[in-house]
Amino acid sequence: MTINNLCCDICGRLLTGPRDGVRFVYHPGKPELRDAAGLACQACWDDAVREFGHAGKGRCASCGAVVSRLASLHLRRYDDPQSWRLCAPDAVGFLNTLRTVEPKLDPATFRFPFAAGTRHVAGDEGQDRNPE
Ligand SMILES: [Zn+2]
Ligand SMILES: [Zn+2]
Repeated sequence: MTINNLCCDICGRLLTGPRDGVRFVYHPGKPELRDAAGLACQACWDDAVREFGHAGKGRCASCGAVVSRLASLHLRRYDDPQSWRLCAPDAVGFLNTLRTVEPKLDPATFRFPFAAGTRHVAGDEGQDRNPE
């Protein structure tokens, strides 16, 4: 999705150019699936990451919960190789602030796609695998 490239993904403010905002990248533990099109104005970015304190590996940057690589959202500035991890509730909280995320995620049912013990697709209840 690139149609919002020049608007802040959070408040929708029109940015005068990529240098006017902060580009960011996120993925669910698999860098090849990253979304590198994130763009936020400086004010929104500062607001989003203000509470992020725990930069240590294996912990949610927001609440400090222990999270595994595949059970967290990896978020970083485009120009900064160090990424934060966010646990599921905090990832939902962040992602739902993005205008590019539609429909909004439901914290009650959100699962990271590759986390151990989770099913492949959310909302696949009722679709039993039929043996041939
Ligand atoms: Zn903004
Ligand atoms: Zn958290």
